[in-house]
Amino acid sequence: MGKGTLVAMLRERLDCLGLTVSATTREPRPGEVEGTSYYFMDDDEFDRLVEGGEFLEWAWVHGHRYGTLRREVERVTGRGLSVILEIDVQGGLNVRRADPEAVLVFIEPPSAEELERRLRGRGTEDEASIERRLSGAREEMGKASLYDVRIVNDDLERACAELQDVIRTYETNGGPTEDVCDQA
Ligand code: 5GP
Repeated sequence: MGKGTLVAMLRERLDCLGLTVSATTREPRPGEVEGTSYYFMDDDEFDRLVEGGEFLEWAWVHGHRYGTLRREVERVTGRGLSVILEIDVQGGLNVRRADPEAVLVFIEPPSAEELERRLRGRGTEDEASIERRLSGAREEMGKASLYDVRIVNDDLERACAELQDVIRTYETNGGPTEDVCDQA
């Protein structure tokens, strides 16, 4: 199971975390819902948001653009929650530039073979997209050392426990929602 599953599991356990909905120019997959999975948009609309300074960060990922809207972060923090962003490495590094206190956690697949198996098993990508995603993942692995923490996602339960520890440490060091997280 990949990053998405890990983050979903974490959110079930910690109700101090809020997830933002990203904007993207990629096409929706079957079953994806506008405003819940992503804000799906064309290039012109994405350009307008970029020009309007509406993104905390955005990046090209696997041939499409993805970005975190400032107003999404404000929506989550406005509810007293900590924000968890499930984004690519360039985006993560841009968030750190915008907020040096951000904690960057690199979620590593157990191996390139396992990542390929997961991507194929999901059945949502065509061959070109799978190849693009695998080469993107190899590139991202080269930047893992720039992150604060690395967690290998080989065992979902263990990876989730490690991620919970990282968040607990962050909250203890003055994260915005210490009390809420402690109760969870
Ligand atoms: P997918 O197309 O599978 O939904 O997402 C592909 C990748 O895009 C994700 O693994 C994630 O790393 C990245 N991504 C999703 N949302 C954002 C975002 O808002 N900003 C950035 N920089 N990357 C994102």
